[in-house]
Amino acid sequence: MNISMKRILITGGAGFLGSHLCGRLIKDGNDVLCVDNFFTGSKSNIAHLIGDTYFELMRHDVTFPLYVEVDQIFNLACPASPVHYQFDPVQTTKTSVHGAINMLGLAKRVKARIFQASTSEVYGDPVVHPQPESYWGNVNCIGPRSCYDEGKRCAETLFFDYFRQHNLDIKVARIFNTYGPRMHPNDGRVVSNFIVQALKGEHITIYGDGQQTRSFCYVDDMIEGFIRLMNSADGLTGPVNLGNPIEYTMLELAETILRLSNSNSKLVNKPLPQDDPRQRQPDISLASTALDWAPKVGLEDGLKETVDYFRQIL
Ligand code: NAD
Ligand code: UDP
Repeated sequence: MNISMKRILITGGAGFLGSHLCGRLIKDGNDVLCVDNFFTGSKSNIAHLIGDTYFELMRHDVTFPLYVEVDQIFNLACPASPVHYQFDPVQTTKTSVHGAINMLGLAKRVKARIFQASTSEVYGDPVVHPQPESYWGNVNCIGPRSCYDEGKRCAETLFFDYFRQHNLDIKVARIFNTYGPRMHPNDGRVVSNFIVQALKGEHITIYGDGQQTRSFCYVDDMIEGFIRLMNSADGLTGPVNLGNPIEYTMLELAETILRLSNSNSKLVNKPLPQDDPRQRQPDISLASTALDWAPKVGLEDGLKETVDYFRQIL
């Protein structure tokens, strides 16, 4: 093994973001261990890496301890879409909380640097807009989204307690809505839903009046942000917002997807899910100054790649 080659563990490595991260880290010359229980991830997401000398796949649930020797850990394991994380909410909280404890314990034992995939959901339905890292959030602790939001908040707490108590080398990213190839076609997220509906000629389901906003980051930009944060200077713990600050309403998104996929699908309105945030936009000043990072891929370019991907798999 090359001396500069790092042994990197990625939990949730067979998922949407995890599979792109595995590919990028292999390409950069690292030795990657992908750990996944395949709840929402799949072997097909990482099929192109199987057979590579420096890629290893392990079926494992992060709610149970893991004993391996690594230099860095990216902790991504957790279902990310409301449909999936609400399927078994108790397991979702366990994955975030027990998963964090197990991975932090591992990092402490082997003295590895550890990255946490946190989320803009820690801001809940924000009353501060755009959201800076200093905002504490507006989260319902007993609603249908709480298993995810509070699980991720507790994971952040654990990361910072391990940092203060055990001097662990932590890096916490707060990820805003990200899209791209290998999103799960049935995960119920807005980009995958609209594209699949448009390509199948089905109605486009606009929840509520479609005036709620989100900011969408293309997956390649997000992965670049992960790598920069992981390799940032000692002491930069985060949390650091990563996301694209350009904000769109769901109606604008639907119209763009219809145009790019040449679809005649009609828009239909459906009830707005409970606790659905009205607006969300990252303040990325910290990522910009500390990591010299900003998204580069515009929504239309990223959506074109994503539409092409869904055309192939449908
Ligand atoms: P994903 O569902 O595609 O990936 C999650 C992966 O974790 C899957 O492969 C799944 O099988 C695995 N997993 C789930 N529970 C597990 C467990 N107990 N043990 C081992 N593996 C388990 O979702 P994603 O979009 O790739 O998200 C990756 C991470 O980034 C998640 O932690 C998510 O909360 C976070 N995140 C994603 C977004 C986004 O827009 N995609 C936004 C904010 C945060
Ligand atoms: N949404 C929608 N139609 C869909 C799926 C989602 O209008 O078919 C809306 C949803 O109500 C929310 C936004 O799109 O306001 C983003 O939803 P998603 O589940 O993708 O992400 P999150 O709410 O976690 O940001």
